[in-house]
Amino acid sequence: MIWLALDGVGHPDDAPPGSVWETDLPTLRPLVDSGRVLDAALGVPGLPQSGTGQSCWLTGRDAVRVMGEHFGPVPGPTLQALLREHALPGRLARAGGRAALLNVYLPEYLAGAGEGGRRRNRLGCFPYAFQVAGLPIGSGGAALRASLGLGYATPWDALETEQDLSRQGHAIAAAAREYDLLVADLWLSDLLGHQGRDPVPPDALRAGRAYLRRVDALLRGLLDSGARLVISSDHGNLENLRVKTHTLARVPFAGAGVDLGEARDIVQGGRQIARWLGLGSS
Ligand SMILES: [Zn+2]
Repeated sequence: MIWLALDGVGHPDDAPPGSVWETDLPTLRPLVDSGRVLDAALGVPGLPQSGTGQSCWLTGRDAVRVMGEHFGPVPGPTLQALLREHALPGRLARAGGRAALLNVYLPEYLAGAGEGGRRRNRLGCFPYAFQVAGLPIGSGGAALRASLGLGYATPWDALETEQDLSRQGHAIAAAAREYDLLVADLWLSDLLGHQGRDPVPPDALRAGRAYLRRVDALLRGLLDSGARLVISSDHGNLENLRVKTHTLARVPFAGAGVDLGEARDIVQGGRQIARWLGLGSS
């Protein structure tokens, strides 16, 4: 199973006209359109955030209720405890499963998990959950940059081609045969979404569309190789570049070779992913 966890990408049904979704996405768009449209607000006021949103996906528990608010971007002590006990990578590892995070990080970044409360954690939910589970991060034959070959700052110039991404998709699908779960934490979309303003900045719109086309190319490589996969998102942001903040947009839950079930929100989405891996209620 391969999990592409998009950060800050609202569903096209909730995107305004002229959004990043309006570009040629021959693989991604049909998959998203055939998937489910999930609520990420969970009945709690305020804008959804990555700390709680990703914790919902990773644990299948309502992390927003646990926190009492939408919280993020990185998990503080309360969410860290939730992730240590209930996050999918750790549960899978304890059950004897094999999982890895595909992201490549600088060693300095991975050293940013607070130890014993002496330092404040700086890791996002995905690297945090894999690190505390003692699982590999960015190693092996299939590693991936969250920028998907774009630069990490304006003007986000392409450093790799879309064909490179398709080839990486093939390589990741081949590597996935040795694993129960491979995850990609694709956060550049949220960074791009935070460039939003009125009028919409053309460079951010161009980069946002380029990013989705790269997800499309990666997906094409994965599906050509017969991979079983799922795509999720933690909250809206990039789909509305008229605003700088996250949005209340619903989010995609799509997949190939999996039964998406009746999930209506990101907590139920997280539970469904756990079920595929033979891990029912946590
Ligand atoms: Zn954000």
